[in-house]
Amino acid sequence: MKVEQTAGKNGAISRTTSRMKTHKRRRIRYGRLSAALLILVMLITGLTYIFIGMTQWIKDYVAPPPITAIEQPTKLGMIAMTPDVKEEPVRFQGQVRKLAYITFDDGPSEHTATLLDILKQHEAKATFFMIGRQLNQHKEVVERLVKEGSYPGLHSMTHNYNKLYKSGSSSNFVKEFKKEQKMVQELIGFTPHLIRAPYGSSPQIGEKFRGDIAAAGFKMWDWTTDSLDWNLPGQPDKIVDRVSSSVHRDKEVILMHEREQTVQALPRILKMLEDRGYEFEVYDPSAHWIANFSGDTRL
Ligand SMILES: [Zn+2]
Repeated sequence: MKVEQTAGKNGAISRTTSRMKTHKRRRIRYGRLSAALLILVMLITGLTYIFIGMTQWIKDYVAPPPITAIEQPTKLGMIAMTPDVKEEPVRFQGQVRKLAYITFDDGPSEHTATLLDILKQHEAKATFFMIGRQLNQHKEVVERLVKEGSYPGLHSMTHNYNKLYKSGSSSNFVKEFKKEQKMVQELIGFTPHLIRAPYGSSPQIGEKFRGDIAAAGFKMWDWTTDSLDWNLPGQPDKIVDRVSSSVHRDKEVILMHEREQTVQALPRILKMLEDRGYEFEVYDPSAHWIANFSGDTRL
């Protein structure tokens, strides 16, 4: 405002000079503003990098993934990724048969015998995905499980996330499963080929990794229904509800674990499945079908 008034009094030349001065001042002002903005952007970028770095560091060193037989929390996020199994329905005399494959992970354990007792009451068999390092402590129940027609599937030696996946290579993973396969062979005289990847095959197992598993002679199953039982201690009702609200396919592979709450929920789960017209099936190597998250036909 002041500039315009001065310019009005002193004529054209002064006006031009004033305008130039104003431009100069504006340039300086914009210059300062740009510098401030640049510093701000650099500061934010720097802080972001530090934050990402720290998060990664915390992830890697302060809180590594659980190394025990407890399933990782990301499994919760995997529900949405579980696709329908795109297979031809099994028919018997023109009727579509509804098949439920009950699977138990993380055994053998002190619960295996009770699970087998409950299965027996429903004339059901199950597929057990067992951890290698627990086999020798529960030798008898592993023998019983096979004798009663259940399938002794493999679930790695250690169930250790870092050991199995952190390098990104399949070599430790394949090594662990081969070792466990040999252990089962020596223990019961049967060589299982069906595996279940600890924490599921997605997202940690990519296409090349899957090829390596297939090349080592294994088949791999994930699941179609996650009971979330591992995360519901003391809440067998919720486990029953969860399975009940999830099953709807002609073929269901139901993920459960050898846990106290699962033992409590199992009779009701089996009853509910029977009432809904399901027959219980156990994995049959001679009638293998694809049940991995990626739909990979090599597995
Ligand atoms: Zn597991």
